[in-house]
Amino acid sequence: MSTPDPVLSLIRPEILALTPYSSARKEASGGRVWLDANENPETPSAGKPHLNRYPDPQPADLVGTLAAYYGAAPTNVLVTRGSDEGIDLLLRAFCRAGQDAILITPPTYGMYAVSAAIQNARVVCVPLLPEKNFAVDADAVLAATTANVKLVFLCSPNNPTGALLDRAAVLRIAQTLVGRAVVVVDEAYLEFAGTPSLLTEFGRLPNLVVLRTLSKAFGLAGVRCGVTLASPALISVLQKIIAPYPVPTPVLHAALAAISPAGLAAARASVQLLVAERKRVAAALAKLPIVRRVWPSDANFILFEVTDSTRVMAATRAAGIVLRDRSRDYGLANNVRITMGTPEENNAALEILTRV
Ligand code: PMP
Repeated sequence: MSTPDPVLSLIRPEILALTPYSSARKEASGGRVWLDANENPETPSAGKPHLNRYPDPQPADLVGTLAAYYGAAPTNVLVTRGSDEGIDLLLRAFCRAGQDAILITPPTYGMYAVSAAIQNARVVCVPLLPEKNFAVDADAVLAATTANVKLVFLCSPNNPTGALLDRAAVLRIAQTLVGRAVVVVDEAYLEFAGTPSLLTEFGRLPNLVVLRTLSKAFGLAGVRCGVTLASPALISVLQKIIAPYPVPTPVLHAALAAISPAGLAAARASVQLLVAERKRVAAALAKLPIVRRVWPSDANFILFEVTDSTRVMAATRAAGIVLRDRSRDYGLANNVRITMGTPEENNAALEILTRV
């Protein structure tokens, strides 16, 4: 008999015991005349493609292609409505309301704490180390991961600071917490870093979860397609609680096109251009008198500290250029984030910033 997945012992008992909704598309296979799901036999308003049928809950062709792209097995893959849905599902699977907690490393992506608040899970904060370019403090993370901390969220490259977390530190955290907590590595921006995913460590770390998305490198934020990669046992649990049909048919088509050979080549070219722009814009920002510091970035954005972020935001906004003021994030007073646009868009932003 195979040993049970140690991650399962961390899941909320009522979720383990849950009998999931059994949708018509899960129950039916094959068939010629489909009269089982209360669908309309056609889409009166549209020609082709027909959208009258509920989609496959987890389309096998998309799951298989994404698994191959990320270097995992199809049983490691759950396709979600953006990676935001993956974050939410993990909170709901692991955290008992009013009892359990997650650990985050501020300043970091805001949805971890928001999803925790929705689930009434506590949030334990272990700040990144600004003096070490926002490195993760692995010892402090491990010390703060008490029994009720079920999920440790590590974002690499981190949003909004931009840098990759040290791979060895992340692995040490995950390794030490096997059987105690799940380590969720959010790799939304990994393509821009040009380094391998933590996924290669899956085999030896059953408590590792990796989040990826088509919103960034593939330019499909409007499609809402994210991917949660985890052990088959954990993916099966998340499948129990995800909404019945999370991959709309137009999303399936857009995602398949994005990860086709032509789509992958186009994404690679786009990433190359955006990384070149990141280097150029970072160098230009560093020369501006209002800029105190440009944080190194492995993502498609740059965080920079200015003398007065309110003035910078007002001046750029007046010129129709929208940057993101990150001043309210932990330890980021007077820090502004600029996402890499086209070279023309970046030049427009730089020109205004030169004149502030
Ligand atoms: N993770 C990080 C670090 C992000 O910055 C974002 C979006 N800004 C997401 C996840 C969510 O992305 P999506 O839901 O579009 O996949």
